[in-house]
Amino acid sequence: MQTSPPLLRLDDLSVDFVSGPKRLSAVHKVNLILQPGVVTCLVGESGCGKSLTARAILRLMPGSAKTGGRVILRGTDLLALPEKALRGIRGHKIGMIFQEPMTSLNPVLTVGEQVAEPLRLHLNMTRDEARKETERLFGDVGIPSPRSRYDDYPHQLSGGMRQRVMIAMALACKPDILLADEPTTALDATIQGQILRLILERTRQRGMAVLLITHDLAVVAQVADFVGVMYAGRLVEYAPAREFFASPKHPYSIGLMACAAKSRRGDSGRLTAIEGTVPSLAGMPPGCAFHPRCPRAQTRCARQAPPTAADGQRRTACWLGGDGQ
Ligand code: SF4
Repeated sequence: MQTSPPLLRLDDLSVDFVSGPKRLSAVHKVNLILQPGVVTCLVGESGCGKSLTARAILRLMPGSAKTGGRVILRGTDLLALPEKALRGIRGHKIGMIFQEPMTSLNPVLTVGEQVAEPLRLHLNMTRDEARKETERLFGDVGIPSPRSRYDDYPHQLSGGMRQRVMIAMALACKPDILLADEPTTALDATIQGQILRLILERTRQRGMAVLLITHDLAVVAQVADFVGVMYAGRLVEYAPAREFFASPKHPYSIGLMACAAKSRRGDSGRLTAIEGTVPSLAGMPPGCAFHPRCPRAQTRCARQAPPTAADGQRRTACWLGGDGQ
């Protein structure tokens, strides 16, 4: 599958938070490519750096964050681009669906105006053309009565409806790349299916590249071509989706799959198959950050972080060398 040149390439992308003399690593040397027509899913528990990785691509970071490495879009490093030039890429070449629609929408503009604005700005549509296109997009994402909804303000819509507005906004300018952070979490199963189908249709027909962040392995199984697993800011496993689901290699991936299988079966009792919690930035363990929770941990795991080993299209960061089962 990895034959076309990538649309976007992350080379050693890192995000550190600087607090006085301390530098806390939230994303550590992530390498990833996004290709046309391909859906790459990033999975992992909350606090593993998935959302930060997506936000770092567009430099939508808190002031205390320092990015490192490179984010290459058609030969240009977005991390080195002046802010004004980057504004021409956000929402136009790269669309992003954020996790919190209420804080991402402007409360004093109607939702229709917020979707129509980038159409006028980036695609030079007239006011009427942008309104018509926005109403069409609202229909695509399952917003009932799109014409009247155009004039609603965000607070007049439910959480699920606001999420659909965000999705319409991210897709409005037909971006080459879509960064979608938990795009369907707030939606019921029917609308979730409709949104995933719409994203897949855009991906396959228009060659859009998608980075989809989710904690839901059932969604990943439906849409992913490639899967990346993040733990404590590192990409600990990356593989074609089919190979990943047939045999996850990293002990953390294996734990996630076991959790998903338990919840599918509706097992009662212990909710998680992985003991412990994701470490905080300030309390990152030495060596492999997963070692306090890892059922396969060895002595050296606590002393030294494992390198990433490649095997064909697969990559695994574990001392067991991709044999964590
Ligand atoms: Fe477990 Fe060691 Fe592999 Fe880390 S390096 S995942 S602790 S076996």
